[in-house]
Amino acid sequence: LSTWSAVPAGPPDPILGITEAFKADKDPRKINLGVGAYRDENGKPYVLNAVKKAEVKMAIAKLDKEYLPITGLANFTQNAAKLAYGSDSVPLNQNAIAVTQSISGTGALRIGGAFLARHYPGHRIIYLPTPTWGNHIPLFKDSGLEVRSYRYFDKKTVGLDFEGLKEDLKNAPEGAVVLLHACAHNPTGVDPTPAQWKELSDVLAEKKLFPFFDMAYQGFASGSTTRDAFAVRHFVSQGHNVALCQSFAKNMGLYGERVGAFSLTTSSEEEKKRVESQLKIIVRPMYSNPPLHGAHIANTILSDPELYQEWESEVKGMADRIISMRERLCELLTNDLQTPGSWGHIKSQIGMFSFTGLQTEQCKALAGKAHIYMTMDGRISMAGLNSSNIEYFAQSVDAAVR
Ligand code: PMP
Repeated sequence: LSTWSAVPAGPPDPILGITEAFKADKDPRKINLGVGAYRDENGKPYVLNAVKKAEVKMAIAKLDKEYLPITGLANFTQNAAKLAYGSDSVPLNQNAIAVTQSISGTGALRIGGAFLARHYPGHRIIYLPTPTWGNHIPLFKDSGLEVRSYRYFDKKTVGLDFEGLKEDLKNAPEGAVVLLHACAHNPTGVDPTPAQWKELSDVLAEKKLFPFFDMAYQGFASGSTTRDAFAVRHFVSQGHNVALCQSFAKNMGLYGERVGAFSLTTSSEEEKKRVESQLKIIVRPMYSNPPLHGAHIANTILSDPELYQEWESEVKGMADRIISMRERLCELLTNDLQTPGSWGHIKSQIGMFSFTGLQTEQCKALAGKAHIYMTMDGRISMAGLNSSNIEYFAQSVDAAVR
C-alpha cells in the first residue's frame, strides 16, 4: 500500500479551472472573463511602461541578488505605507506603522491572519462579507481564526445591503475582527459610499470591532490612488488601529512578481517596534524573507517622481478603459438589444469585476453555446472585454437571458 493511498482528490480551484476550459476551447470567438487580470484593448496581458522603465533602470544599476531582510526592502515598505495611508498620516509621521513586505496580497492576508491568531487581545473571530473573494475563507481558517459572515450584497437591488451589514456588525461580539474590502469589492463591484464608510467607522468604534482592510485594487477602482484610499485613511483619522493588506498585482500589473505589504497602525514608535519584532517571528519560519525583484520594481516607481507620474496615468488608463467597457455594455444591453432585465448596475459597479446577475444556468449556457467563460456566480472580469468582443458578448448575454 502506498503511503498516500488514503489521500482524497480535492476539488479544482473554481477560478483557475475556468482558464483551463478556456484554453481547451478552439473557437475563435471565445472570451475568458474568469480571471481577474487586466487585459489591454487587444485582449493581451499588459506590462506597464513604468514597469519596463524601472526594469531598465535596475539593469543599468547592476543590483546584486543578496537576501532581503525578513520584513523586506525597507524603502519599498515605507513607500507602500505612504501610498496607502497618505503622506500626512499621523501614525506614518509618528513612525508608528509596523509594516512588512509580503508575497502579494494573499501573503499579506496570511501574515495578518497569523498575527491576529497569535496576538489579538479580543475575540479571534473574523467577519467576512457575503459574498467575498473565495480565498478569504480558507485563508483565515488556515490562519487559525474563526470565520463568520456579515450581510453585504442585496440580490434584489443588486447593490449594498447596508442595513443588513450594520445589523450583523452590531450583533457581532464586542472586539471581533471585521474584514473590509477597502475599494472595488470582489466579486460584487459594490462599494459603500464615503458617507456609508463614515457610518461604518462609527459602528466599528462603538462595538470595539477591529478593522482589517484588504486593499488589492488601490487606483484600479476610480483611477485615483488617493480616492481609492478614502476608507483606510478615514478609519485611521478617526483613531482606529487598523490592519492593512496591500497588493501591487493589479495596480502595477505585477501579478506574478508577488509584491505586497502588510501593516498595522500602532500608538507609538515603541509599540511599533514590538509589533514588528513579532511580525518577523511569524515570517522567518514560513519563508525567511521575501523575493527581491518585484519589490525593487515597485520601489523604483514609487521613489522616482517621473516614473510615479507615468504609473499614475497608466493606472488611470486601465481604470478608464474598464469604466468605458461598463458604459458600452450597459448601453448595448439596455438600448441596442433591449435585453430583458435592468443593467444599470454594470455601470454603477466599480473595479475589475461586475456581478451581472446572470444565473448559474445562464453562465453554463454562455460557456457551452457561446464559448464565453466566467465564474458560475455571474461575475465577469470587465478587463476581458474590448471593442472587438463586446458586441458578441452582449448578443450572447441577450440570447442566454431570453
Ligand atoms: N484580495 C482580493 C479581494 C483579491 O481580489 C485578490 C486578487 N484576486 C487578492 C486579495 C490577492 O491577490 P494577490 O495575492 O495576487 O495580490
